[in-house]
Amino acid sequence: MAIPNSDLTPDELAYYSRQLVLAEIGSIGQKRLKGARVLVAGVGGLGCQLSVQLATMGVGYIRLVDRDVVEMSNLQRQHLYGVDVVGYPKVEAAEMRLRKVNPFIEIEAIPASMNNRTASMLVEGVDLVVDGLDRLTPRLALNRACVERGIPYIYGAVITHVGNVSTIIPGETPCLECWQGNIDEANVPTCATVGVTPSVISVIASIQVSEAVRIILRKKPNLAGKLLYFDIEELSLEKINLAKAEACKVCGTHSALASVDNPVEEICGRSGKRVFTLTPKELLDLNLDEIGGRLARLKLKKSLTTRLGLTFLDGFGMTGSVFRTGVAVIEGVESRVNATDLYRKLTGVAIE
Ligand SMILES: [Zn+2]
Repeated sequence: MAIPNSDLTPDELAYYSRQLVLAEIGSIGQKRLKGARVLVAGVGGLGCQLSVQLATMGVGYIRLVDRDVVEMSNLQRQHLYGVDVVGYPKVEAAEMRLRKVNPFIEIEAIPASMNNRTASMLVEGVDLVVDGLDRLTPRLALNRACVERGIPYIYGAVITHVGNVSTIIPGETPCLECWQGNIDEANVPTCATVGVTPSVISVIASIQVSEAVRIILRKKPNLAGKLLYFDIEELSLEKINLAKAEACKVCGTHSALASVDNPVEEICGRSGKRVFTLTPKELLDLNLDEIGGRLARLKLKKSLTTRLGLTFLDGFGMTGSVFRTGVAVIEGVESRVNATDLYRKLTGVAIE
C-alpha cells in the first residue's frame, strides 16, 4: 500500500473533492486509496454495498469474486443490479455498473466459488479482503487463505435485522476459525430461510468499509480482535472482545495448514432442490460458445450467454450456470454424480 507516484488527475480531484478536504483523508490519503488493492468476496447484499462504497471512495483496484447469477429475489437489497441484468453473473453485472459509477479505477470480475481449492489464489496480490459472503464454509476458507498470506480480513455478516463485523489481522488478532470454527453450518439460518432487511446490510457494509479505509490509511482499525454486534430493530450496538483459541486449526500453535479440498460442494437449495457447485482444479478460460453448442445434444436449452457466463435449463426444473472460469452451479439434479457427469459433458472437463 505504498503511495503511488502518479498524481490525481483533474477529473479525480473533482470526483473526490468532498473527501479530499477531510483531515483524515486529504491528498496523501486519496493516493493511498488509489494505490490500494482490495478483494470483495461475494457481491450479494453486503458485497454490492461494499464494492460501490470502496469504488466511489477511489480504491484503485477492486477484485470481485462470486459464483452466482442475478435473480429477481436479489434486487430488493443488491442495489448494483436491475431487472435488465437478471441471469447475468453477478460479478459481470457489478463490474459493468461500477465502471460507470467510477471510471477512474480498475475492476476485475472473477466468477468463482470461494473454497479451499480457490481461496489462496483468489486473495493473491491484494492488500486487504472484505467479506460479502453469505455462508460460514467459504468464510473459513477465505480466513485460512488470509492468515496464510498475512492479509487483513474484514469479516461481516447479516441475517434478519442483525449484523456482525470483526477485523482480523493475521498474527495479531484471533482469526475467524478461533471463534467460529466449531459452528455447524447446517444449524445456521440463511437469508433464504429467515430473510434480511436491507437497512442492516447498509450499516454493516459501511462499518466494514470504514475499517478497510482505516487500514488503507494506516490507522488502527477499531474492530481488531473485537466483534461488533448490531441490531437495527433495537438500535443497539455492542462490542465483544474475542479470544484466540490455542488449539485453532489455522492460527494456533498446532495449526494444520493442509485443508480439505472440495471440488463439488452441495449447498442448501430452495424448494427442496439439490444444488451443487463445481470447481475445477485451476480456474480455466472456457469457450462459452462451444458449451452453448453442446446444449442441444444434452436436451438442454440456453437461457442466456454473457461475456463471463452461460445459463441453461432442461424445462423440467433443472437449471444451471457455467462460468468462463470453469466454475459451475447446477440446481435440481438428483445426485452429485449426475452433477459431475453433466458438467463433464458440457465442458469437456472432468472434475476432481
Ligand atoms: Zn485462529
